[in-house]
Amino acid sequence: MQKGRNKIAVDYAKCGDGHGVDPRACGICLRICVPAVFLLHQTLGVEDDPKDPRCWRVSPYWTDLCSRCLKCVEACPEKAVTVSW
Ligand code: SF4
Ligand code: SF4
Repeated sequence: MQKGRNKIAVDYAKCGDGHGVDPRACGICLRICVPAVFLLHQTLGVEDDPKDPRCWRVSPYWTDLCSRCLKCVEACPEKAVTVSW
């Protein structure tokens, strides 16, 4: 594990929340991240229909596990992921 705090962000205007890509259809960041930093989950406070893409997003959850490999940044087809430290 790297020292210092990792800052990982997903732009939900490009992926999730009904904008751009449905993360359940893509999921590249979920598969490519070896330490499994990202969590696919339902978004609270919007529609209750589980098929509604606005209900889903990927969140960088276990950020302390990030190895700073930047594979998620390079692989995301929407350029929605940023990683800094
Ligand atoms: S930089 Fe690497 S370890 Fe960190 S979240 Fe992205 S894919 Fe995972
Ligand atoms: S790789 Fe990018 S577009 Fe695909 S699920 Fe992850 S954040 Fe969304």
